[in-house]
Amino acid sequence: MKIGIVGGGINGLCVASEALKKGHEVTLFERGSLMSETSANSSKLLHGGLRYLEHAEFRLVRESLKERKYWLNKSSELTRPLRFYLPIYKTSRRPAWMVRVGLYLYDILAGKHTIQKHCKEGIDQFSKQYPQFNKSNLSALYSYSDGQMDDKNLGLMLADELRAEGCRIFENSPVSRLDIDGTIHLESGELHQFDKVINVTGPWAEALLQHSDIKTETHLDLIRGSHIIINRPLDSGFILEVPGEERVFFVLPHHGKTLVGTTEVHQSIDEPIKPSSEEISYLLAAYQYYFKNGVTRVDIVGNYAGLRPLLISHKNPNKASREYVLEKNGEIITVFGGKWTTSRALGEKLANKYL
Ligand SMILES: Cc1cc2nc3c(=O)[nH]c(=O)nc-3n(C[C@H](O)[C@H](O)[C@H](O)COP(=O)(O)OP(=O)(O)OC[C@H]3O[C@@H](n4cnc5c(N)ncnc54)[C@H](O)[C@@H]3O)c2cc1C
Repeated sequence: MKIGIVGGGINGLCVASEALKKGHEVTLFERGSLMSETSANSSKLLHGGLRYLEHAEFRLVRESLKERKYWLNKSSELTRPLRFYLPIYKTSRRPAWMVRVGLYLYDILAGKHTIQKHCKEGIDQFSKQYPQFNKSNLSALYSYSDGQMDDKNLGLMLADELRAEGCRIFENSPVSRLDIDGTIHLESGELHQFDKVINVTGPWAEALLQHSDIKTETHLDLIRGSHIIINRPLDSGFILEVPGEERVFFVLPHHGKTLVGTTEVHQSIDEPIKPSSEEISYLLAAYQYYFKNGVTRVDIVGNYAGLRPLLISHKNPNKASREYVLEKNGEIITVFGGKWTTSRALGEKLANKYL
């Protein structure tokens, strides 16, 4: 079959990869450059998502933990296992027993794909390693493992493999419209006919269907997530509660610096995708609460944001599912939602069901 793919993020590339494996002729159109939108602006974690266990998303967590291992095995240069600390304070919203249950479940769901099981850490030993970390009211400390990646370059590596396998990739080729018979209209006026078209445009998936006058049953909530980069080195990851809130945030090593994220701000598809001054202050304040190392706004050396294409399912974006939905309209198949970590599995599922 002739397959046309719209969108050159990680999901589009993984769909292309699985379609090629089935022997199809694959052409991919990307509006700008490959891997330059959501897929390059993530928290850069290959993770099961410990916090999704709070919403009983066992299927998603199990799949993600398996896929985490797939990517870790794929490139030892662009991925690595990362040890995380999870401190519990007397004031934490989640008591120690709840965290312990979550970590046991995480290890069980990982099964043979485990990186390294969780364990309880000694606070004294930790204090020696991180003397500037906030220890007042610290009552317990756990550690567990997940994966970290160079999201952009890992995707670009996959794109090189696809080109070598015969996939035709066109960058700077915005698609203006899709017809349900499988026609792709480029903004340049060119028309391309395919047997099946896969709309994998991430946060833009619903908008592209709307421009094409195709009705959809699935709707997306677009939630901006921002990160800041601080000029301090760090050698472990931290998962921490935002002071006074239920939500958690990450503090991560990042090319000799520290990455702090993320936020949850509703926005429309037409607004610029960049961190607001309030989000930067929010992330800095959360970091400063835990890291008493004198960091101020002048130590922020970078920031970025991405738009989460979340399925409309919950009023609170923190609790909205990171699952994905595939919807078929004539010869058009649209991908809604998903995580970076599960992109290969998404591509495989889509190819097995529709291609
Ligand atoms: C702040 C944040 C943190 C995250 N952290 C993680 C994490 O740590 N781990 C994890 O597993 N997941 C994470 N995610 C989720 C993950 O990043 C996304 O689910 C994933 O990157 C979505 O990939 P995609 O290919 O669907 O979308 P995108 O990467 O956005 O790709 C869609 C592509 O379609 C193109 N496009 C759009 N419209 C058109 C058009 N009309 N014509 C041609 N091309 C078009 C765009 O230019 C874009 O390149 C995070 C997401 C966010 C926002």
